[in-house]
Amino acid sequence: MASEFELIARHFTPATPGPQAGVAFGVGDDCAMLAPRPGLRLAVSVDTSVANVHFPADAPPEAIGYRALAVSLSDLAAMGAEPRWCLMALALNEDDDAWLAEFARGFHGLCRTSGTALVGGDVTRGELAIGVTVMGEVPPDLALSRAGARRGDVLAVTGALGGGAGGLVLWRRGERDLAHPLLARYLMPQPRLAAGLALRDLAHAAIDISDGLLADLEHLLAASRLGARLEADALPLAEGLVEALGGEEAHRAALSGGDDYELLVSLPATALDEATRRLAGLGLSLTPIGVTSTERGVAGVALDGHHGWQHFQGGGE
Ligand SMILES: [Mg+2]
Repeated sequence: MASEFELIARHFTPATPGPQAGVAFGVGDDCAMLAPRPGLRLAVSVDTSVANVHFPADAPPEAIGYRALAVSLSDLAAMGAEPRWCLMALALNEDDDAWLAEFARGFHGLCRTSGTALVGGDVTRGELAIGVTVMGEVPPDLALSRAGARRGDVLAVTGALGGGAGGLVLWRRGERDLAHPLLARYLMPQPRLAAGLALRDLAHAAIDISDGLLADLEHLLAASRLGARLEADALPLAEGLVEALGGEEAHRAALSGGDDYELLVSLPATALDEATRRLAGLGLSLTPIGVTSTERGVAGVALDGHHGWQHFQGGGE
């Protein structure tokens, strides 16, 4: 195996050397030195993606690199934070230069399009796993927490639901075309960063849907000490989901499937039109799916004990 230094130098040095915004020095010294803008809070989150738990080990390496960063950035989106920097720790078994090059291409590609600078990395030998820490900036009074929802708020979701779970089912069936909309949703999810920024002065609370709509809704409601009534028929289903899974399973995927990385926001009814208009300007839909209430629990959907997130597991369905 090439030395850690060689691997980092070859694949994880910024594509365009030179000063990066807010980075006094980045990859290559003992620490990165960062310069957050005065007056802003630093929002920080870490996620670890483990092969055959969070993604298939034989997924395209470009997608694995992209996805590892995307799932972390999704947490910044949910806070209304603007991404600035990330750190990446990679464990891998083989010294496969072509694999690493593709992995780095996916990772750096999303760094570029999201405005995130990779400021430090660590490569070690082990079962394939990627830990990504992201740091973003947000004005203190605009950060979206899970705890801010208020009674009578409208609950709304960006984009469409069930695509992550649908893509996982297709992957297990042998579908390998990343152009398939469901597989793209599963392996190349788009963190809703622009939506988080657009909604942060309108919404009372937000969470990203990583564990499934119901599970994450319950996190938001618990933090806000509220309940909700959902309109089950209002859930926006991902493109191709009903065709792939059938109506009943599609509905279940939208309610309980993981890996969607859409935002669930709680906002005053009076702000819904403006919020919808802003997201339309970003090419993204915002769908009201229910309202908060003081009665605890979630009404309006049939819970069947299946809800919650299902990790990827190798093998058949
Ligand atoms: Mg989250």
